[in-house]
Amino acid sequence: MNAWESDIVPCTQCVNCNFRAERNKETCCSKCSKENECELHGHEAHCPRLTQQVLSLCYWESVRCDADAEEEAKCLIVPGSGEGPRPVLLFLTGNGHVDDRQDFYSGGIDQLLRNNELKSYTMLAPKPLSKTGVMRRNEKWRWTWCEDGLWAMLTQILKRLGPTKVDPCRIYVTGLSLGASGSWHLALRYGQYLAGLAPVSGVCHWPHGAWPKGGGNPLPEVLERLANLPVRAYQIDVDRYAGSPVKDFEWLCWGLKEEQEDLNLCGMEVDRRVDVAVRRWSRDDGQPWELWQAKGPLKDWKYYDGWDGDKHCLWNRVYPFPEWGMAAFFKAHQVPKDKCWNVEVASDLSTMMAKQKAEEAAWNTQQEAKRAKEEMEAAQEAVPMEVDQGQLETLGKMSTGDMEVMQEQKRLRQDEELEGAHAVAA
Ligand SMILES: [Zn+2]
Ligand SMILES: [Zn+2]
Repeated sequence: MNAWESDIVPCTQCVNCNFRAERNKETCCSKCSKENECELHGHEAHCPRLTQQVLSLCYWESVRCDADAEEEAKCLIVPGSGEGPRPVLLFLTGNGHVDDRQDFYSGGIDQLLRNNELKSYTMLAPKPLSKTGVMRRNEKWRWTWCEDGLWAMLTQILKRLGPTKVDPCRIYVTGLSLGASGSWHLALRYGQYLAGLAPVSGVCHWPHGAWPKGGGNPLPEVLERLANLPVRAYQIDVDRYAGSPVKDFEWLCWGLKEEQEDLNLCGMEVDRRVDVAVRRWSRDDGQPWELWQAKGPLKDWKYYDGWDGDKHCLWNRVYPFPEWGMAAFFKAHQVPKDKCWNVEVASDLSTMMAKQKAEEAAWNTQQEAKRAKEEMEAAQEAVPMEVDQGQLETLGKMSTGDMEVMQEQKRLRQDEELEGAHAVAA
């Protein structure tokens, strides 16, 4: 069944135009009206612009990617246009979409679908549903993308599509916010099979001890998986919602030759631009690591005029507009044929998941023991501890959906203003 007709994510048409109406709404976006017909100016800058025609070409695959999961994973397949094996782009959404809090078709895959240079890609967009094995709990017991569940899903789907439709030498991954972390985490385990990685607005959390705390480097086996992987991270320089990747890049590329370039790229509104500072490191093997930092807060959308601008949602520019270079970056890289992921010899699902679960269990036991030891020591020292609860909560929040993030940004802005006022008063 095609995606427009499927009830996995229901679709109805906007009452005013050809596009799909947003969930629980009558229109595609707040600006769309009967009088305002121009496709460019008649819609909000981030309107999903999804037509029945486009979604009818897409479909959902159900995949059992964890034998213990309550439900099968659901993955949207966007078949690439053209002949021959297509490159594959796996897209991971942010926290706002977990368990259907937000409309799946808004704020992610819709923006990728606008990009003409991605039309030949077969895009895979799994729904972040906590019962399906593509999500796991992180160390703070929050939902995050599950590396091995995702890899099992990807493997199954590549098998179903077959070598005439997809090219295993060109598997790319991108994700936004929580999905940026997810894309990194996938690379920590399977980076040797990926042709390119483009995390947007988020960081790697180095889960399960991949980068032991207290200095030093990531584990040698992890570094090996990253060794040949081209990476380009996009980030707004003032973004602190899902962490900043700057320190990781500086550490991991330390001592390498660095090039810098200043770009001025298109913004969300046609007449507004964004300054981007590019840092590019060439590693010994020649594969680039790049950090594209947009000068924020971004004011390239009228919506932001009334307040302090966008500090997080960079994907609204990177995904739809070829000028931001993501597709060109992917196109320039692929995995050599003899090293690509061979889905036919891939170990079966249960082996994969068992391996991850054993590793997680070992890690959790180790952390538990460490915590218990620290608690005992703390109790012995009996020093009163002060915890800034507000700060903890702010750090813990990783909201990604446009509206949710905007509200969050507004709140933080108010907090900043309050802090500023206090500072002046003091
Ligand atoms: Zn409309
Ligand atoms: Zn619209």
